[in-house]
Amino acid sequence: MIRLFLDFDGTVAVNDVGDAFFQTFGQFEPVHSELLAGKHTVAGYYRISAGHLRDVTPESLHAFTERQELDPAVPDLIRWASDVGIAVAIVSDGFDLYIKPMMARAGLGHIPVFCNTLTFEDGAWIPRFPGASESCSCFCASCKRNVLLTSAPTDVLVYVGDGRSDRCAVEHADVVFAKSGLIAWCVANGIPHHNVHTMFDVWHILRRRFEQNDLRPRRHAELARKRAFEQE
Ligand SMILES: [Mg+2]
Ligand SMILES: [Zn+2]
Repeated sequence: MIRLFLDFDGTVAVNDVGDAFFQTFGQFEPVHSELLAGKHTVAGYYRISAGHLRDVTPESLHAFTERQELDPAVPDLIRWASDVGIAVAIVSDGFDLYIKPMMARAGLGHIPVFCNTLTFEDGAWIPRFPGASESCSCFCASCKRNVLLTSAPTDVLVYVGDGRSDRCAVEHADVVFAKSGLIAWCVANGIPHHNVHTMFDVWHILRRRFEQNDLRPRRHAELARKRAFEQE
């Protein structure tokens, strides 16, 4: 089976909705710059940021997610993938509380989402990290590599992403589509990839390769998956 894994912020969604969420409802700086400088883990950054959240109500959250856009090609890409038997999942180091309403609004509420959760309990916002990994060297709160490792050994894994949280996943993926910051990282680390700007580019290239029966395992990715699997 072919599996298509999609990053959310900056990939399925045009912008980084997680950043916009904390900019809108919390205190984005200086903690975000400190994160980029390596002063916090992502989980640590989220715990601090959650402590600054204010005025997040069902109404304000709804108004916020309504202002955020998915890449316009996403519904067509996912519909096509389902039609031809490709399994699609969202893998994100962001939060369910904005990802799920945005997917549902686009009629994509049935697509599985692997991400962190943020819930309001006893007067405080609590981030949780069900996908955290101790064995992966990634700095993420939700390890994307571990989601890929749940695939069958014969599956072909296609990955689309744009940022730091996608690095451990692309090392373990057979076919990689990279946007913005992830492109230079793939080049520096010798990971074959397609440079893309939009999800329309992804759909166009993926459909061509699918029709040419040209989606196959990548030897280095297979070995990396086997190694990671043995270490888990
Ligand atoms: Mg991203
Ligand atoms: Zn990882």
